[in-house]
Amino acid sequence: MSAILLDGKVIAEELKSKIGAEVRSLKAKTGRAPKLAALQLGENRSSAVYVKAQEKVAGALGIEYELKVIPGAISQAGAENLVKDMNEDANITAIILQLPAPEGIDAKKLINFITRSKDAEGMTLENLGNIISGRQRIAPCTAMAVMELLESAKVDLYGKEAVVVGHSEIVGKPIAMMLLNKFATTTVCHIATGERGLLPEHVKRAEILISAVGKPGIIKGDWIKDGAIVIDVGINRAGDKILGDVEFESAAKRASYITPVPGGVGPLTTTMLMRNTVELFKLNHVDPRGLRR
Ligand code: NAP
Repeated sequence: MSAILLDGKVIAEELKSKIGAEVRSLKAKTGRAPKLAALQLGENRSSAVYVKAQEKVAGALGIEYELKVIPGAISQAGAENLVKDMNEDANITAIILQLPAPEGIDAKKLINFITRSKDAEGMTLENLGNIISGRQRIAPCTAMAVMELLESAKVDLYGKEAVVVGHSEIVGKPIAMMLLNKFATTTVCHIATGERGLLPEHVKRAEILISAVGKPGIIKGDWIKDGAIVIDVGINRAGDKILGDVEFESAAKRASYITPVPGGVGPLTTTMLMRNTVELFKLNHVDPRGLRR
C-alpha cells in the first residue's frame, strides 16, 4: 500500500477561507473585528517564529492581532496582573500566552488566569474539562488540528482502534478525549508503555495512530498496521531538518493515510488558533448563551 498524504497546508487553506468569510460576516453584523492578543514574557527566539506566523495568518483573515512583549524580568504576580488586565480589556477577544515562559513563571498557573471566555488555546482547566464532559467548543489547537485531519480523510471513528502515543495535557490527553467522544476505542501510551517495551504491540493494533512524543523515529515503519491512518504530531529538529516521530518512508508503504512532517499537523495549528478566536468572538458578542452551557 502507498499512503495518501494528508496535506495540512491544503486543508488549512480551505479552512482559512471559511474563517475569513465568517470574520467578514461577523464584522458586518457587529461592526467590529475579533482581536487576538498575545502575551510574550521575556525574549524567546522560538516563540518569535510562532508570533510572526500568528500575526500573518490573523492579518490575512481580518482578525486584529496585538503582541504585548515584556522583555525584562517579571514576577508571577506581575504576570497574573497583566493577564487580568487583558481579561478586562473589552477590545480583546482572545488571549494567548506564548510559551515557553521564562524561568520563575508557573505557566500552567498563569494560563488559568485567562478567563475561559478569552482562552484562545483552550488550555484553561475549565475548557479542558469541557472536552471530558462532551461540551467542547474551545479546545487545544493541536488536538483540534488532529481531529480536522481525520475528518478530512473522512474517517469513521466509531469503534475503531485508536492509539495515542504521548499523554501531555495540551496534546496527547485532549486528543485521546476527543477520540473517545467519537466512540473510538482509545489506548493511550506514554513513557511507562515505552519503558516496558510495549509500544510496538499497541502501535501494531492501531487503525488510527496519533504520535505526539517528540522523539524522531520512535515509531518504526514496520509497526504500522496495513491501512492504518497515521497522524504524526512530533516536531524534532535534526540539524537543518525537521523530522516527525514516525519513520515516514516505511510507514507510508503500509498506511492508507499519513501526515508529512513538516506540512501535516503544524500548518493547521495556527489556523485552529484563529478558529478558536472567532468562536470566542461569537460566544461573547453573538451567542452569549453558549458561555453559560
Ligand atoms: P511533551 O509534553 O514532552 O509530551 C511528550 C509525551 O511523550 C509525554 O506524554 C511522554 O510521556 C511521552 N513519551 C516520552 N517518551 C516516550 C516513549 N519512549 N514511549 C512512549 N511515550 C513517550 O510534548 P508535547 O507538548 O505533548 O508535544 C509532543 C510533540 O508534538 C513534540 O515533538 C512537539 O514539538 C510536537 N508538537 C507539535 C505541534 C504542532 O503544531 N505540530 C504542536 C504541539 C506539539 P511522560 O510524560 O510520561 O514522560
